[in-house]
Amino acid sequence: MLVLERDRLGSGTTKGGLGGMRHQFVDELDIRLSQLATAFWHNFEDRTGSRHDFRERGYLFIANTQEGVAELREPLPLYERLKVPVEMVGRVEIAELVPGMRVNDLAGGRFCERDGYGDPLVALAGFAASAQLAGVAFREGEAVVSLLREGDRVTGVRTRSGNVRAERVVVASGCWSSALCATASVAVPIWPYRRSIMESPPIPQLANIPMTIEWESGFHFRPKGKAQRFAMPNLTADGKEEKGPASAPLAYPGDYAPLEVPASLEPWVRARAAWRHPAFADLDIVDSWSCYYEMTPDDHPIVGAVPGVAGLYVAAGFSGHGFMHAPATAQLVVEEMLDGRARTIDITDLSLERFQTGRRPFKATVL
Ligand SMILES: Cc1cc2nc3c(=O)[nH]c(=O)nc-3n(C[C@H](O)[C@H](O)[C@H](O)COP(=O)(O)OP(=O)(O)OC[C@H]3O[C@@H](n4cnc5c(N)ncnc54)[C@H](O)[C@@H]3O)c2cc1C
Repeated sequence: MLVLERDRLGSGTTKGGLGGMRHQFVDELDIRLSQLATAFWHNFEDRTGSRHDFRERGYLFIANTQEGVAELREPLPLYERLKVPVEMVGRVEIAELVPGMRVNDLAGGRFCERDGYGDPLVALAGFAASAQLAGVAFREGEAVVSLLREGDRVTGVRTRSGNVRAERVVVASGCWSSALCATASVAVPIWPYRRSIMESPPIPQLANIPMTIEWESGFHFRPKGKAQRFAMPNLTADGKEEKGPASAPLAYPGDYAPLEVPASLEPWVRARAAWRHPAFADLDIVDSWSCYYEMTPDDHPIVGAVPGVAGLYVAAGFSGHGFMHAPATAQLVVEEMLDGRARTIDITDLSLERFQTGRRPFKATVL
């Protein structure tokens, strides 16, 4: 098995993510993927031989409107059916979970103790090291220029240093997957959407808090080792919060403009943070970066065999939650490659087929 990476492993969206892991989705399949992935995250050291900083500290959603609380309450029967321990929480419990946080503007919240966060680059290094020991070859700095297609079959890839023949090819190139698949005449609707993260020095009294997310605004924060990290929505030209793209683009180009953190975000984060917690007053923002969410029209990834093109598989377009589901995705794609279908969880709904036929199995949500 060979992995071709045009830059360095982790240099795409993975290096920019917040590392959150949650079960609190509204679609059953997402929750099942989280359950499968969480079992792996628990055993990461045993499975890979590497360390990973997985903290099961929960995800706390907080809402400041009654409508927001009603939306948070809606999927509770689904969580109950799937045995995910999610509970609605009031101001008292919220204040216990995040000591010192302003709660007097909150109408309520929702908490799952099985959620948490990890470190995408550390986890990636562990995956890569164990794959290497198992015989997988990695070539960094080697871009795939095109897929090799002969009739209704993909037979390998072309790189600048020559052709690599393969019985099976998995396109897992994040928001760049569309351009790559187009070289085999396969239309894959994945496009980039810029999102940003900011970092301050650590706040010792908040070192063990859950990932905390304002439901209405999309502002969220977590401790991360020697730092405190903040994630935020985008702001439109008229200052409105925007968590996801308004619509799909008309075209899916392969190369995108260099990423810059929009100047309007820092004052917004400072104000939002200072309002939410007194410890965030006069925030010292020491680092910030933007990265691309890899969007699809229904905010769900495209995973599995490409219909009608033997030997070609896709695992991309995770729309903001690709890190947490990575171990589950890898397992299920391999099952599909070896057995013709994923056995552990039925992932038919993630197939590219849904965009070819117009089927819409998911309720879209972007955090
Ligand atoms: C701000 C932000 C916050 C996020 N927070 C979370 C979170 O809390 N939890 C979570 O689960 N997810 C989160 N995500 C999403 C998560 O980071 C991504 O879904 C995940 O990293 C995608 O991984 P990937 O391997 O599919 O894509 P990428 O990490 O983008 O990897 C694709 C790789 O393909 C390579 N490549 C591209 N074209 C070629 C080519 N032609 N040949 C060879 N190689 C190529 C690229 O160089 C890149 O390294 C967040 C994302 C952002 C931007």
